[in-house]
Amino acid sequence: MNGGEKDAVPVIECREVTKVYRGGKTAVRALDRVSLRVSGGTIIGLIGPNGAGKTTFLSLIAGLIFPTGGTIRVCGHPARSLEARRSLGYIPESPAFLARYSARAMLEYHAALHGLSRAAIREETDRLLAQLRLEEYADRAVGGFSLGMRQRLALAIALLDRPRLLLLDEPSNGLDPLGVIELRQVLLEVQRTGATVIISSHRLGELERLTSDYVFLHQGRIVEFASELAAGQMGRLRIELLPGSPLVAEELLTSYRPLEMSEAGLVVGVGGVQDVPRVVSSLVQAGVQITGVALEAQDIEQTFVRLYQEGDGS
Ligand code: ATP
Repeated sequence: MNGGEKDAVPVIECREVTKVYRGGKTAVRALDRVSLRVSGGTIIGLIGPNGAGKTTFLSLIAGLIFPTGGTIRVCGHPARSLEARRSLGYIPESPAFLARYSARAMLEYHAALHGLSRAAIREETDRLLAQLRLEEYADRAVGGFSLGMRQRLALAIALLDRPRLLLLDEPSNGLDPLGVIELRQVLLEVQRTGATVIISSHRLGELERLTSDYVFLHQGRIVEFASELAAGQMGRLRIELLPGSPLVAEELLTSYRPLEMSEAGLVVGVGGVQDVPRVVSSLVQAGVQITGVALEAQDIEQTFVRLYQEGDGS
């Protein structure tokens, strides 16, 4: 997230961003001094429980609402500026369309708002109808569209004019498994063009394999889990032993967090697949006779929930 060349302009740069909603008797601090730098070509999962501030954060980056404090830049331009808006595509949680218009008409209308020429409008509309597999429905009224088709149309509109940043608020809500797979494919295609994608969700499990990084929000603040995740809480490595194999010296496993140990085998906490060869080879060197190894990956969402429940997330 913070990577990339030193001189490259970050796609998103937020400094100490605070948002307080006022109205009525109470004020709600939806975001509290959030700072974040995102470089190009990444897919980031914005994860957090209901009310964590995800929609607020995305709306601020999209320039739809004003921050109470702090600064937000998109591709080097202040959020809400024309240049920033031109650099991004945004899909709200529940995209709404005028029911009587066709998908093609909606796309052409939005393409015109981008200031494209007549030829470019036609070209972009055809490209996106094909990319989002909407050609078959292009001339039907949007009012009859299923949720999945609406999501695809919203994505097509957000991808008009090839934005460098794509913001999706809970895109998989209500999608069937096939819809989620299709969404994943489209987002990977978008990433391959060098664009950055941010996807918010309170259940990232289904999009987990897609994201290259995560931002955890809780009560309007970014929660730093990097150290806990690096300490080996990402997955469970189950190792089966030949009956009668010498038991593992505990000190050998101090750096790998033995979670369960018995004569039949052991379970070790690891930071990810990259730890597997090291654990296995150190056990083999210690004379342990291994008959089977399986990495039971714990998805990031479970990790988040567990760490949060353990009190680390507050
Ligand atoms: P969800 O997963 O339920 O969509 P979220 O993480 O997107 O939640 P936000 O919608 O950003 O969270 O809300 C953050 C906090 O700000 C919540 O306490 C919410 O009630 C409050 N909030 C959001 N919008 C407004 C508003 N327009 N006026 C007052 N309070 C608001």
